[in-house]
Amino acid sequence: MTNLPGMEYIIEITYLIATALFILSLKWLSSPTTARRGVFAGELGMLLAIVGTLLHHGILEYKWIFIALVLGTIIGVPLGKVAMTAVPQRTALSHAFGALCVTLVGTAEFYLRTPNVPRFMMGVLSMEVILGSLTFTGSLMAAGKLQEILPQRPITYKGQNFVNLGLLAVAIIVAGMLVAHPEKTQLFPLIVGIPLLFGVMMIVPIGGADMPTVISLLNSYAGLSAAAMGFVLDSKLLIIAGALDGASGLILSVNMSKAMNRSFSNVLFGAFGQEQASATGVQEARPVRSATPEEAAAILAAANKVVIVPGYGMAVAQAQHKVRELYDALTKRGVDVKFGIHPVAGRMPGHMNVLLAEADIPYDKLLDMDEINGEFPQADVALVIGANDVTNPAARTDPNSPIYGMPILDVDKARTVMVIKRSMAAGFAGIDNPLYYLDKTLMLFGDAKSFVGSIVRELGGGNE
Ligand code: NDP
Repeated sequence: MTNLPGMEYIIEITYLIATALFILSLKWLSSPTTARRGVFAGELGMLLAIVGTLLHHGILEYKWIFIALVLGTIIGVPLGKVAMTAVPQRTALSHAFGALCVTLVGTAEFYLRTPNVPRFMMGVLSMEVILGSLTFTGSLMAAGKLQEILPQRPITYKGQNFVNLGLLAVAIIVAGMLVAHPEKTQLFPLIVGIPLLFGVMMIVPIGGADMPTVISLLNSYAGLSAAAMGFVLDSKLLIIAGALDGASGLILSVNMSKAMNRSFSNVLFGAFGQEQASATGVQEARPVRSATPEEAAAILAAANKVVIVPGYGMAVAQAQHKVRELYDALTKRGVDVKFGIHPVAGRMPGHMNVLLAEADIPYDKLLDMDEINGEFPQADVALVIGANDVTNPAARTDPNSPIYGMPILDVDKARTVMVIKRSMAAGFAGIDNPLYYLDKTLMLFGDAKSFVGSIVRELGGGNE
């Protein structure tokens, strides 16, 4: 495009507004009440960033950009329509695309500038392609594990961490050699190839249950590589957006690790989830008490205070609207109903908040784990809907449990516990839940949506 007078100025202003929108978006996304506005601000920021870039005088011809936009739309539209439970793997795929783009741009820039690449530029270019390449294959592996195309269980062997970190160290040493001698262009393929291999090896020993945390970390790497690309392309917008992405991804993965009481290194190197393979399929012979929808409805109707604890099963069953009807039916009878939300319930951060917000359950009834845990002893009923690991008292009481130390929702402290799930099958961590064998616990076997629907009918509520 010709460099029209004032065009640079317009582009800079567009970028400035885009940057402000990205920052506001992250701020607004941190609360369910403002999250929708946050999504809109992020989208608008990205639109402005794209428009500003398309106005850039460096663009000589639009043909290839147009082809890429059409291809991106063809791939992107179906990706935007996946079920909410598949969002983690969808997000991983987006990171993979972003990282591939960063790596390709970095490689092209290197060969365009070689042999006269200044040292600083070589340093950021190396960081860009190393992070980009490992994020590309790492994200593809993570998506494959979550989609169960690849085995979810961690695959380990002796000395694995040593081999993996060794690979990364070799890539960094080669990058250092390139910075010192940018003319040794034959070394460049190594700083792409080795991290590509490292990305695969890094994910192999990590279990499926840890994938969302890892994806969040890969998000952070993708952001850092984009920031490095910003230095290479001299784009302040990319540097800022990449840094925001890098920092928020890191904060999210640290928060998720904390919520599972795991250290970061344990997530990356702990091979968590091996128990899953051995425990899955083991059927407990111990007796449990079960109840019908009529009995459950009678108990709920007689209660003064009920805490509902949703989990992954509610998401799978898409039971949130029925849960809303149950909330209405109980509150109409004067029952005090609250929701206890565990930070890692479901399969992604905020999963339960999003579903319950979709069903228009008032935000002030959704209480975080720290707020609700003190209320369980006063609750007549804790109604667990498709949650398992996040309610497992072994995390508090059994030092041998793989989830020992993970903060849980103390549903076992309520007077009566009712658990809606289809069978005695384990949750994502693959371990048995002693909650189900307590005298105070009633198992309500069935699909969350239909079981809650039956309770609502018994209570005389609902839309049917
Ligand atoms: P869990 O995976 O522990 O348990 C879900 C339960 O839902 C299962 O036991 C299953 O039992 C039941 N279920 C499945 N489908 C249905 C259905 N249609 N109707 C009724 N019940 C159903 O879920 P939680 O939410 O308790 O815990 C989340 C787990 O995911 C934790 O281990 C957490 O660490 C992990 N995780 C979560 C992340 C996040 O960001 N949210 C990130 C990383 C990990 P059954 O088959 O018998 O019905």
